[in-house]
Amino acid sequence: MTERISHWIEGRVVAGTSGRTAPVHNPATGVVTGEVDLASADEVAAAVATAVTAARTWRASSLSQRAAVLFAFRQLLHERSEDLARIVTAEHGKVHADALGEIARGLENVEFATGVPQLLKGGYSEQAASGVDVYDIRQPLGVVAGITPFNFPAMVPLWMCANAIATGNAFVLKPSEKDPSAALFLARLWQEAGLPDGVFTVVHGDKEAVDTLLTHPDVAAVSFVGSTPIARYIYETGTAHGKRVQALGGAKNHALVLPDADLDVAADAIVSAAYGAAGERCMALSVAVAVGDIADPLVEAIALRLPKLVVGDGAAEGTDMGPLITREHRDKVASYVDAGEQQGASVVVDGRRADVPSEGFFLGTTLLDHVTPEMTVYRDEIFGPVLGVVRVDSYDEGLALINANQYANGTAIFTRDGGAARRFQFDVEVGMVGINVPIPVPVAYYSFGGWKDSLFGDTHMYGPEGIDFYTRGKVVTSRWPDPATSSVDLGFPRTR
Ligand code: NAD
Repeated sequence: MTERISHWIEGRVVAGTSGRTAPVHNPATGVVTGEVDLASADEVAAAVATAVTAARTWRASSLSQRAAVLFAFRQLLHERSEDLARIVTAEHGKVHADALGEIARGLENVEFATGVPQLLKGGYSEQAASGVDVYDIRQPLGVVAGITPFNFPAMVPLWMCANAIATGNAFVLKPSEKDPSAALFLARLWQEAGLPDGVFTVVHGDKEAVDTLLTHPDVAAVSFVGSTPIARYIYETGTAHGKRVQALGGAKNHALVLPDADLDVAADAIVSAAYGAAGERCMALSVAVAVGDIADPLVEAIALRLPKLVVGDGAAEGTDMGPLITREHRDKVASYVDAGEQQGASVVVDGRRADVPSEGFFLGTTLLDHVTPEMTVYRDEIFGPVLGVVRVDSYDEGLALINANQYANGTAIFTRDGGAARRFQFDVEVGMVGINVPIPVPVAYYSFGGWKDSLFGDTHMYGPEGIDFYTRGKVVTSRWPDPATSSVDLGFPRTR
C-alpha cells in the first residue's frame, strides 16, 4: 500500500487535482512508499489566495500572541521529535540519530523566533527636530514562500518558517517532492500549537508549482535552498518578478589540514563531516587539502576509519551511514568515482565495491587521493560519500585553491597554531568558517549563508538576517503640534 501525500491548505489536507504525482521511496529498501501530488499552477494560485487572507489577520495579532504560538510549537516539536525523525529516515534514508540532529538544529530556529517581541523592537529618537520624534518599525511582507531541498526535510523548512511566521507573514512551503511528509507533520504541529489556518501552507510539486510561486503577484518573497543551477534560476526569475529572493545553492567544502594539526582529531572530524548523511549535506567536507608531510599519515588515518563505519538502513540500531536518496543519484555518484579513477586519482577506499545491502540505494564510502583541481571529482559537487584529498606544499597554495573555487559555502582549518587559524579566518573567501570545527553551521542567533555560487541574493538565512529578510522597514516622523505655534512654511524641513 502506498500512501497518498497531499497538500495542506487552510488547515486541512487537500487532495491534488492536477492528475500528476511522483513516487516517494524508502531509499533503504528501494520500495515505493508514497505518491505525492504535484500541484498545477491553478492549485498553487488557490493556495496562495488563502494565504493572502490569512496574512491580513495574522499580521494584526499581537507580538505576545505570536510568541505564545511559537512557544507551543517549540514544545510540540520537542515532544514529537522521535516521530518526525522516523518520517525523515523513512523518506530520506539518513540514520535516526542524524534525523534527530537536524530536528534539534531546526528547533533552535523556533527558539530564536520566540524572541520576536524583542527582535522587532525598533529605534526611537525623541526631538529629532523641535517637537518632532522619529522611529522605525519593521512590518511583515505578506505571503512569503519557501522552496526546500531533499537533504534536510525538517531543518531547512524550520530555518525559514519560524522567522517568517513570527514576523507576521503567511508562509507557503514547497518541499522537495522526494521526501515530502515531514512538511505535513510540521503543518499539523503548527495547527495544534494554535496557528490560525492558512498561515502555514504546504503545496507539493515540481517546476510548475515553483514557477507559479516565482511569478505570482501575491508572493512577496522567496527563500530557496537547493542546487546552484536552480538557485540561480530562482533568484533571476523571482527578482525579475519583483520579489525579494534569497537562494542558497550547492557547495564544495574544503578542510585545510596544516602539518601541525592533531592527526586523530582532524581524521575523526573529516570522516564525520565527509560521510555523515552519506555526504548529502551542503556543509559536508568533500575535499581535504593536506599541507606538506601530513598528507600520507592523514590519508592512512582516514582510510583506517572507513571500514569501521556500518552502512545500512538508517532506521536500524547501530547504523552509521544510510543510503543515497535515489537510485539515479547513487549511480551518478558512482560514475564520479569512475571518472576520478580514469582521470588519475588513486582510489584508496572504493565504495563501489563495498559490502553494502543490495536492496535500496546504497554506496560505500570512497576515499580518493592525489585529486587535482582539473578533475571532475574536484570541480563538481558530488553530494555523496566521496572524499577527495588534494596535496599541496604550503598554506598559501591551499588557501589559493579554496579561494579559486566557484563555491564558498563552508570550510574548516585544522591546526594547533592560533595565528595560522586567525590568518585563515581573515583570508578565506567563504561564508562559514570552522576552526577545528568540521561542520560550522551557525547557531540560530547568527545567520547561515555562503558566498559566490553558494548564495544568490544579499541576505543570509535565519537569525538576524532572517528577521530582516521577512520584514520591511518603515520610518515614521511624527509631530503633535501645538496649534498656537502653527504657520505656513514652504522651506525644506530642517532639523536645526
Ligand atoms: P534541487 O535544486 O534539485 O531542488 C531543490 C528544490 O527545487 C526542490 O524543492 C525541487 O522540487 C525544486 N526544483 C528542482 N528542479 C527545479 C526546476 N528545474 N525548477 C524549479 N524548481 C526546481 O536540490 P536537491 O537535490 O533537492 O538538494 C540538494 C542540493 O541542495 C545540493 O546542491 C546541496 O548543496 C543544496 N543545499 C544547499 C544548502 C545551503 O544551505 N546552501 C543546504 C541544503 C542543500
